[in-house]
Amino acid sequence: MCAINDKVGDKVIKRIYKYLAVMVMTLAMLVSGCSQGAVSGGATSDNSGNSAAAEAQDQPGIQGKLVVKVLDVGQGDAILINTGEQIILIDTGDDKYREENRKNEENTQLFAALDKEGITHIDKLIMTHAHADHIGKAAKVIKKYGVTELIHNGIPSASAAFRNALKAAKAQGTKQIKVKADDVLDFGKGVTFTVLSPTTQIIEQDTRDLQADKKVNVNNESIVGILKFGDFSMLLTGDAEKDVEKDILARYGKNINCKVYKTPHHGSHTSSSFSYVKAIQPEYAIISCGVNNSYGHPHKETMQTFKKLNINTLETDKNGTVTVETDGKTYSVKGER
Ligand SMILES: [Zn+2]
Repeated sequence: MCAINDKVGDKVIKRIYKYLAVMVMTLAMLVSGCSQGAVSGGATSDNSGNSAAAEAQDQPGIQGKLVVKVLDVGQGDAILINTGEQIILIDTGDDKYREENRKNEENTQLFAALDKEGITHIDKLIMTHAHADHIGKAAKVIKKYGVTELIHNGIPSASAAFRNALKAAKAQGTKQIKVKADDVLDFGKGVTFTVLSPTTQIIEQDTRDLQADKKVNVNNESIVGILKFGDFSMLLTGDAEKDVEKDILARYGKNINCKVYKTPHHGSHTSSSFSYVKAIQPEYAIISCGVNNSYGHPHKETMQTFKKLNINTLETDKNGTVTVETDGKTYSVKGER
């Protein structure tokens, strides 16, 4: 009886071992699968997963890595994009500080940030709109970095920052490119930037109004567009306000869905309407603004919208430069502090 029982016992133990081995393998597969999935939405996690990178490279036109840095330049915007083939700068921040405690002092944060990144040449400089907190340093950037292409909306602003940028471009032999909704810019290595606004209508209307000395809403002239690399997408917004958001929603609907949202107008309540942010459905919202800025940016209404929609937020005034990294499959968003 004992011998028979032992044999039965052996079989049972072998079966348990086999079962356990299968369980362990299944768990291991689940864990590795989960870690990749969690990383794509994970807070500040690094996700340089080799297998994901290899998969991304298998997709035609998708290879390497896209790095987007929302630079800490105080009150203003400056976004550095490195596709491995091209260096693109969207806006340059202000030439002077706007914050009460440092008002009119020269703001050198952009050059310090570009030096830190080892930038010696810029392929494309995009000026979203003609406000100093976005293009205040444009002329200096063109002179210092030998920009290949200067991209703007073509609306003939009389602002000193805009005129000086065009003058510098002419002197340096920088090519000027005017863009409008539905234009697609090639950033190299499979990275594209599709312009959603301004429309031809806004460009023509504001050009006419400026020529007639009428006031225009410069924020609404902002170049808004989707940066796309594989499955990753990020909405870049300048300072576009709610009227433009409504128009973009009407023209593109749910096609504006993006993983990361560069919050327009430094988190002002003039932008980021609830229905717009809901349609974008970002996992992260990044706000570029200065410490204790006099505008009170970001406004609490905007932060409440993000909270209600369960969107993670990072702010350059609190977190420093915010880095978004993606292989076209998974991505990470990290603050400097
Ligand atoms: Zn601004």
